[in-house]
Amino acid sequence: MATAERDYYELLGVERTATDAEIKKAFRKLARELHPDVSGHADAQERFRAVAEAYEVLSDAERRQLYDRYGHAGLRRGGYAPTDFDLTNLNDIFSAFFGDDLFARNRAGRARGGDVGTSVAIELAEAYTGVTRQVELEVAVACERCGGDGAEPGTERVTCGTCGGQGRLQQVSRSVFGEFVRTQSCPTCLGAGRVVERPCTLCEGAGRTVETRELQVEIPAGIHDGQRIRLRGDGHAGAHGGLPGDAYVEVRVAPDPRFERDGDDILAAVDLTIVEAARGATVGVPTLEGEIELEFEPGTQPGEVRVLRGKGMPSLQRSGRGDHRVLVNVAVPRRLTDEQRELLERFEQLSGEDTYRRDEGFFEKLRNAIR
Ligand SMILES: [Zn+2]
Ligand SMILES: [Zn+2]
Repeated sequence: MATAERDYYELLGVERTATDAEIKKAFRKLARELHPDVSGHADAQERFRAVAEAYEVLSDAERRQLYDRYGHAGLRRGGYAPTDFDLTNLNDIFSAFFGDDLFARNRAGRARGGDVGTSVAIELAEAYTGVTRQVELEVAVACERCGGDGAEPGTERVTCGTCGGQGRLQQVSRSVFGEFVRTQSCPTCLGAGRVVERPCTLCEGAGRTVETRELQVEIPAGIHDGQRIRLRGDGHAGAHGGLPGDAYVEVRVAPDPRFERDGDDILAAVDLTIVEAARGATVGVPTLEGEIELEFEPGTQPGEVRVLRGKGMPSLQRSGRGDHRVLVNVAVPRRLTDEQRELLERFEQLSGEDTYRRDEGFFEKLRNAIR
C-alpha cells in the first residue's frame, strides 16, 4: 500500500505528543477537506484513505503505542491491517461521527450516479498548444420508457417488503470510528418505502439504460502526463432523480524523442561537428514551435547550454511559459581517412596553448546558462 511508509503524525499534521482530542480534531478537519465528494483534488480519495488509516491507528491507544515504538513494521507484526472501508458509505459514517448531515446529497431514494473514466493519448506538441479530443464513454442514462422511474408505465407501486414501508433499516456497522448503530436507507426501495409492482420492460426496473456518449474534451495547453480532467455531471445518471456522476479523462502525453520535458521546461541537444564548433555555425534546431536557426560563436564548447527563455511548455498554474534549453554536443569524428588524419596531425602541429585558451568568465557563462 502506497501509504504504508508515511508517518501517521505527519499525515494528520499533529505533534507526537498530541492528545486524543487533538488527534480527533485534526482528523475531523482533514476529513471534511478531503472528502472525495467535496474535494476537487484528483487524489482526494487516496489521501482520504491515508488520513483515515492514520486516524485508525493513532486513535487506538494500543495501536498507537505499537506504532510509536516499532513503526509500521510493528503494526504489521502486531497483525494490524487498515480497514478497507467502503467509501460509498462515507456519508452515513460522517453523520454518525460528526452528528450532522455534511453531505446531504444522498436524500432518501436518490442516489448520485457513479463516475466513469477513460483515457486519451496525445503528443507532446499537442500538450504544448492544447487540443480538443473526442472521447467515447459508456454511461447509464435515465430510461426513456419509464423516465428513470423503473415502473412499467401505468402500473402502481406497492409497500416495500424489506423495510415494511419505513424506507430505513437499522444496522450495526464497523468503521474506522468503531462500532455504531446506523440507520441506513433501505437498499430495496432506496428509502422510498414503496417498490414498483411491475418493472419497466425496457430497463427491467433499473430506471437506467446504457448508451455510448461522445464528449468533446478540451485539453488545456501545458497539461502533464497522467493528469485527469473532470467533466462534472457527465458520468452515470443518478437513480430516481439523484445527481449524475462525473466523467474523468486521464491524459497520457507521449514522449517526444527530440525533447525531454522537465516540468514546464524543455530540454534538447544539438550536435555540432568539431569544425562547426571551432569556426562557429548557424544550425537549425527543433523547438515545439518548429525549427529555428541558432547561431553558435566560434569556439563553442561541448556542454554549453543555450537558454531560449519562454520557449518551453505553457504553465498550467501560472501564466507564462517554461524555457527551452539546448545542450551543445560536439561530435568528434569516429573514422578518419588517411588524408583526414594527416590534416588533423598538421593542425595539431600548428596548434599552441593559445588555440585552446579559455575565455575569461567561462564559469560565469555556464552558471548563467544553468540559471
Ligand atoms: Zn425503464
Ligand atoms: Zn424498503
